[in-house]
Amino acid sequence: MRSKLSCCWMLVVVCLAAGSGLVAQEEPIAEPTEPMTEMAVAEERTVLSEPFDVDAEVEAYLSRQTPEEKARSDAYFEGGYWLQLWGFLYAVGVAWLLLGTGLSARMRDLAERIVRWRPLQTALYAIGYVLLATVLFFPFTVYQGFFREHKYDLATQTFSGWLRDWAVELGVSAVLFAIFFMALYGVFRKLPRTWWLWGAVVAVVFLVFVLLIGPVYIDPLFNTYTALEDPAVKDPILSQARSNGIAVDNVYQFDASRQTTRVSANVSGFLGTMAIRLNDNLLNRCSLAEIQAVMAHEIGHYVLNHVYEMIIVFGIVLVVAFAFVRWSFDWLRGRWGENWGVAGIGDVAGMPLLVALLAVYFFVMTPVMNTIIRVNEAEADLFALHASGEPDGFAEVALKLGEYRKLDPGPVEEWVFYDHPSGRSRIHMAMTWKAEHLEE
Ligand SMILES: [Zn+2]
Repeated sequence: MRSKLSCCWMLVVVCLAAGSGLVAQEEPIAEPTEPMTEMAVAEERTVLSEPFDVDAEVEAYLSRQTPEEKARSDAYFEGGYWLQLWGFLYAVGVAWLLLGTGLSARMRDLAERIVRWRPLQTALYAIGYVLLATVLFFPFTVYQGFFREHKYDLATQTFSGWLRDWAVELGVSAVLFAIFFMALYGVFRKLPRTWWLWGAVVAVVFLVFVLLIGPVYIDPLFNTYTALEDPAVKDPILSQARSNGIAVDNVYQFDASRQTTRVSANVSGFLGTMAIRLNDNLLNRCSLAEIQAVMAHEIGHYVLNHVYEMIIVFGIVLVVAFAFVRWSFDWLRGRWGENWGVAGIGDVAGMPLLVALLAVYFFVMTPVMNTIIRVNEAEADLFALHASGEPDGFAEVALKLGEYRKLDPGPVEEWVFYDHPSGRSRIHMAMTWKAEHLEE
């Protein structure tokens, strides 16, 4: 199965490489010209009374990324495709190691000797498993999260700062997964026939729980969140929020520059903990028009109820995931279960197998998950253009995001790997909108 999967993967990557080559031939990247200011472009057009050419405007934006910047950003983002594959194979390898060596069964026996209450045995096993798996994953994590980020000048942290964040994350994961697996294995043992359906329900409840507590209890462990003070930025943003039916009196900023140079913002939380938050790189590096475009995108997620929609959609995806586990777990256990010392789905010693099967499912589902999210992101983009009326601010930000997200992928590549529309798609959407609103 593994070799079949990697074959599929190779095929996809090869097709993508061929595809983007074709696109590059059809649309040669324009010779880099002197970047023209937005005003100059507009004035020139008025003088010559040329019609607004959407495609030319898009190319003008894209050509502002120098060949060196493009090569760097493309290499960073395309390397990420391979990291997804290696990370997946590594995860399957770790599961194989824990099961094949009988280590997982021994950890279960140890947990059973230490405590008598079964849910506590599960929690103990889960904590041991998370610690062990995280340590085994460390070489991969440190390369991806620290060395590679520094190589591309995207990271701002020292190694000790990074290690501190890594350790805190490990602690949080151990606690959260212990809670999650206690509930999950409780269901697995109590409901021998419908465990897979109720397992999905537990997973959705857990997702909602993390969404609820994340902004209040987890995020502040990594960054400092403060109310946005500067009235020049805050007032127009709050006005925009009010005019879109959101009665908030605060927007938050956080010190993302502690970890990264990336520009970003998010809507996070659920019910009472939902909030719009901008990172300080965005505030420091972007004009008001750009900030307003980003804010309008985040307001779009809020107004369009994307958080609730995502919970429902992920719920369906999780039901299918557990149905897949139900089918494959017993099949694999029938073949190797005796060597592994795994008695059934209710036996915690099978946790690495459960996790590996979910990893297989979500790996195969990568394009589907990315497309589900990307469609929502495109909706928020369109909302942003309407609400902010800042197509050029929007395009400028899309260009800035091109520092770490390949700006101009092939269509299949975008479909498979992009969880947000590409820079080209976003700039094209903005210029199309602008073409229809020139009078305003
Ligand atoms: Zn978004």
